[in-house]
Amino acid sequence: METSNEATLFSALAFAADKHRNQRRKDPEASPYINHPIALARILAAEGSVTDTATLAAAVLHDTIEDTKTTADELRRLFGDRVTNIVLEVTDDKSLLKAERKKRQIEQAPFLTPQAKLVKLADKIANLRDVAVRSPADWSLDRRREYFDWAKQVIDGLRGVHPQLEAVFDTAYQAKP
Ligand code: NDP
Ligand code: ZN
Repeated sequence: METSNEATLFSALAFAADKHRNQRRKDPEASPYINHPIALARILAAEGSVTDTATLAAAVLHDTIEDTKTTADELRRLFGDRVTNIVLEVTDDKSLLKAERKKRQIEQAPFLTPQAKLVKLADKIANLRDVAVRSPADWSLDRRREYFDWAKQVIDGLRGVHPQLEAVFDTAYQAKP
């Protein structure tokens, strides 16, 4: 039997919730990590009218390889090549120094597939909103401002993929502290 779109999305949610179950965001309340992947999928579906199931599932799964012990093979077995390839495109190489990872995100943004660009856009929208309203407790004003400007550099490199979500990003950027 063919897997329904709903089944794929709920399976992705259950999988990500399980993988991130012991992780917290960096805000002062240490919010449950899964709130963040759910926020990305909501931004895509509710604010961008994105209906492509692979893109929405990839948004839900986008931090599993980078931040948990999940492997690409595991995702391929459960969710297939399309979803896995999108997740891999938005996964930073953690063997690199942080400054190099940040630089690569800016350099590589123009060359992502449209689906990965959408996930990247939603990730930056969600993170700017987080820094604006529930920033990591120890971040100075300068660090929060630098984060906004770095995120904008990444997004400026992928513009044209979804003008409506790019406008949502620009609105989020206006909250720069
Ligand atoms: P980090 O990468 O350490 O932290 C930001 C990442 O943490 C986000 O991209 C997000 O990634 C995740 N995250 C988890 N919880 C939150 C939350 N509540 N709010 C926002 N993000 C959260 O930070 P950076 O290295 O990106 O630092 C930001 C900027 O500050 C950089 O431009 C850097 O150059 C600069 N910097 C300044 C320092 C200073 O002291 N002035 C020191 C270090 C860096 P995900 O979506 O993957 O969860
Ligand atoms: Zn993220």
